[in-house]
Amino acid sequence: MISPEKVQEYKNNVLEAFAEAGLIFTKEEINNPGKFQLIEYYDRFEEVGIAMLTVTNEPRYCGRFLYFFPGQSCIEHWHPQVDGKPGKEETFRVLKGTIYAYEEGPETLRIKAAIPKGLERFYIVKNETVLNAGDQIVLGKEAKHWFQAGLEGAVCVEFSTQAIDDRDRGNDPDCRIAIY
Ligand code: ZN
Repeated sequence: MISPEKVQEYKNNVLEAFAEAGLIFTKEEINNPGKFQLIEYYDRFEEVGIAMLTVTNEPRYCGRFLYFFPGQSCIEHWHPQVDGKPGKEETFRVLKGTIYAYEEGPETLRIKAAIPKGLERFYIVKNETVLNAGDQIVLGKEAKHWFQAGLEGAVCVEFSTQAIDDRDRGNDPDCRIAIY
């Protein structure tokens, strides 16, 4: 559980990082809880979480900006089919900082990310791609993937098919998720 004061502080940090990357948003977007969200996993936001600002999410496309705090990871997840439609496919591009991205495929020896302590069994796929500003990767297609930011944090943009976040799946059925 993050206190309301701390939520505001994190959101301010995110908006500062976006502004440093040249990204400006309207008050309506910033104050819309359906658009600007902090997602926290396991009550460990600074380690396992993500900040998202969704600028459009339509039946056939979605655009959002993401911020990862230094060393922060999302959980390993995948996007299953929903109502017979193929799972979300996402092109993920780094605007500032470094992202370590992991997907299914040959395991990278000595990955650069540090898997959050105690959650090692839920981070399975270890085919690593290192993304710096200007680099992008296509993920999804119902395959598992996860990310971790480098130590300076990372601003990213995601172009994807429609996001239906509450239908995403992770490896840990008991993972606690909170949205602020
Ligand atoms: Zn995903």
